[in-house]
Amino acid sequence: MRTMTPKCKRHSSMILKSCKLHKFVLAYTRGANNSGAGGLGCEILKNLALSGFKDIHVIDMDTIDVSNLNRQFLFRASDVGKPKATVAASFVMSRVKDVTITPYYGAIQDKDQEYYMQFKLVICGLDSVEARRWINATLVDMVDIDNPESLKPLIDGGTEGFKGQSRVILPTLTSCYECSLDMLTPQTAVPLCTLATIPRQPAHCVEWASILEWPRVFEDKKLDNDDPEHVQWIYEQALHRAQEFNISGVTYSLTQGVIKNIIPAIASTNAIIAASCCNEALKIATGANPYLNNYMMYIGNEGVYTHTFEHEKKDDCPVCGNLATDFAVDPEWTLEEFIDRLKEQPEVQIKKPTLVTERRRLYYQGPPQLNEQTRPNLEKKMRDLVDNREEIAITDPGLPFSLRLNVIFS
Ligand SMILES: [Zn+2]
Repeated sequence: MRTMTPKCKRHSSMILKSCKLHKFVLAYTRGANNSGAGGLGCEILKNLALSGFKDIHVIDMDTIDVSNLNRQFLFRASDVGKPKATVAASFVMSRVKDVTITPYYGAIQDKDQEYYMQFKLVICGLDSVEARRWINATLVDMVDIDNPESLKPLIDGGTEGFKGQSRVILPTLTSCYECSLDMLTPQTAVPLCTLATIPRQPAHCVEWASILEWPRVFEDKKLDNDDPEHVQWIYEQALHRAQEFNISGVTYSLTQGVIKNIIPAIASTNAIIAASCCNEALKIATGANPYLNNYMMYIGNEGVYTHTFEHEKKDDCPVCGNLATDFAVDPEWTLEEFIDRLKEQPEVQIKKPTLVTERRRLYYQGPPQLNEQTRPNLEKKMRDLVDNREEIAITDPGLPFSLRLNVIFS
């Protein structure tokens, strides 16, 4: 049993101001979509500096967009186009005395374990599952049981509209990000028949226009979500359909939101979650009070509600557990069907998997020769390819580790 305490005993009674030894890394990388975790990053950086943290590194791969200015308060109109990390760092340093903030404009994945080893803790305000999985797997992998300093607490904050969460992850000791991947809300798709026959909500009308009408009218032209003319067309069709069914609420910005899958970023949610994250950072750094164990949820949709619970470690977690995950498989499935089922699993989250067992190559995405060699397997039945309880190792560009699945024939 590993017993390590992440608390810095030497500094437990000191105030942070004199605690220059602590280094913190803060990553607030935005992903490909527009749901804006940069707002969380601004809040976290400002809170850390004002709480007395002295040495902070900030990583962000994004540049400032004009649409960020309504909530990402460290940026001004003249900063549009500049890297967020650099601008945020110099803004906070100009306002808060004696803090050193080192920006890095790039992805968290650019940095290696040696880089992360220099910090006392890592705070994430990421908006991409992929980046979170990567930093989580990296920090778990860094833990060396003979070196307590190698355990870097990870504080993870996230927001989505009026909802948010903050959590404290002690890699290898508590449940990790990967352990809770099945809590992610699956994309709720509206059945096509609803869209085609009786829409009930304004969003249904927009989806009808983009999923059904666009391909019907413009057979060969792909819908470009960023082309204002395309969005305008979708908006007009959706509005027309909404009027037919007496549905109100179709607007241009709703249309944009639905087709781009945008969840609005809300400044107050960011402020609450960032405050919680920084509170935990302060407690971990100073030992002033017990820290969160280990998951806090905030739900602000219909009132103000928070709930704290201990998310349990999964023995078969592919990152911090040591057992292969059991996966029920119908022996009659083809390999292709098996892969499709895998892709639907919220706790797996893979897109282009390569699959192998100890004794054979099941399917390779590349290189071309291996892909060609293994492609015929896609049509073969699972019972002809693997045995009951045989282990399949899965790698995927989106997976920062290799996943082990135990095939359980049902
Ligand atoms: Zn785990």
